[in-house]
Amino acid sequence: MPAGRYAPSPSGDLHVGNLRTAVLAWLFARSSGRDFVMRVDDLDRVREGAAQRQLADLAALGLDWDGEVLWQSTRAEAHAEAVDRLGAAGLTFECFCTRREVLEAPTAPHRPPGAYPGTCRDLSEAERAERRRERPAAVRLRSQVEAWTVSDELHGEVTADVDDLVLRRGDGVPAYNLTVVLDDAHQGVDQVVRGDDLLTSAPRQAYLATLLELPVPSYAHVPLALNTDGARLAKRDGAVTLAELRERGVDVLSMIGASLGFTGAGPQDWLTEFDPERLPRDPWVVDPPE
Ligand code: GLU
Repeated sequence: MPAGRYAPSPSGDLHVGNLRTAVLAWLFARSSGRDFVMRVDDLDRVREGAAQRQLADLAALGLDWDGEVLWQSTRAEAHAEAVDRLGAAGLTFECFCTRREVLEAPTAPHRPPGAYPGTCRDLSEAERAERRRERPAAVRLRSQVEAWTVSDELHGEVTADVDDLVLRRGDGVPAYNLTVVLDDAHQGVDQVVRGDDLLTSAPRQAYLATLLELPVPSYAHVPLALNTDGARLAKRDGAVTLAELRERGVDVLSMIGASLGFTGAGPQDWLTEFDPERLPRDPWVVDPPE
């Protein structure tokens, strides 16, 4: 069964912007007859108890999902196997650069700032042995392209730079761009709906999927929630979580429904009103109570 998904990182509580994105992912999936699956991206920055609260908040809004929640930390073997497989195909190299070294190195004029400049791409075996004594190596993809294009339901054709992206960090943690591709495919996800801060990550993920001979999902990157200063909505902006808003008497479902132009009371009603073509294209500006 093809599926859509929501994949929170349990680094804290979901704010109302995250909740709205989850609602949209659910609506996209359910309105197209797909399953909806849940994944907890618990490889990094995990805050104790956050995942459980996130799942409870999503359920409290009336979102349901099919099957068990997939905890990304249970997929270590598959993540490692994929890095090995790309390595065996000559598509990886060890990188010893710090983040700072990458940012400070000059990039080719046609590449965006921050694109990997290729520093460790062609180190000799002797050089690598030398550098391994300084710090553990990250593993990067030996990208065969400079850019890749995906089609997004809201943004049309999107082309973005694809550099030698990190597959496994120096501390051994597999990188987000790799795990998202592997775990979406593992869960049968063929529709990715998420915040548009990740729009330019989609081409590199689609390229990785192609190299790994996995199907490329369809994409819909939805507008983010902003505060009244135009910055991304955050905890410090006031009462932004389900619990905080409820405490202040705010009906979060009405708030989200109104922001999407729905008149029904909750997700089940919104299913009949939902039309991707008529989704607001501008960011959602939220002025949370203190
Ligand atoms: N856990 C990631 C995040 O919350 C998932 C991103 C995605 O949907 O691909 O940013």
